[in-house]
Amino acid sequence: TPFPVVVETTVEAGFGRGSAELGCPTANIPPGLLAKLDTGVYYGWAVVDQAREPATVPEWVEQAKQRERKIDVNYGSKLGPLAGTCFPMVMSIGWNPFYDNKQKSAEVHIIHQFPDSFYGAAIKIVVLGFIRNEQSYDSVDALIEDIQTDIKVALHSLDRPAYAEAQNLIS
Ligand code: ADP
Ligand code: MG
Repeated sequence: TPFPVVVETTVEAGFGRGSAELGCPTANIPPGLLAKLDTGVYYGWAVVDQAREPATVPEWVEQAKQRERKIDVNYGSKLGPLAGTCFPMVMSIGWNPFYDNKQKSAEVHIIHQFPDSFYGAAIKIVVLGFIRNEQSYDSVDALIEDIQTDIKVALHSLDRPAYAEAQNLIS
């Protein structure tokens, strides 16, 4: 397997649909860095450094916030010892069939409630495993349901001691 895959890069602006439509913001990163990984959903750890100069925030960010809906996942119980620097994450690499995208994307949902967005921040991730292939969905609700399952699978997998040690690769 190619794991662990470590990438250090900068959070870019995407199409602004994660938060608004799915209640699940995803920090977009340049997909070229993960070219060796097939499309699909992965899990691992992420560290964000907001000390960098903020990038220009697209104007739809405020609009999107107003349409936000929160997905119903209880992060709390698993986050205690991790809160602070190194967070669990789920990452999607794909062509986003649901939206009929023409462009490949790599998007990291950090399983943590941040008070604000962090466009332009430095982000380090370590990818540790594969969850599932990309799917096409009939409805947004079906997609949201799968995201919720992905998050549970990620948190469950990351409980393993060997995966906890992998935090040291990025923090
Ligand atoms: P975009 O299409 O620009 O990626 P999203 O709706 O996917 O827009 O929102 C992503 C942005 O939300 C990230 O770039 C980041 O600044 C912010 N954000 C806030 N909380 C999180 C989180 N838990 N995981 C990932 N990004 C988050
Ligand atoms: Mg995104």
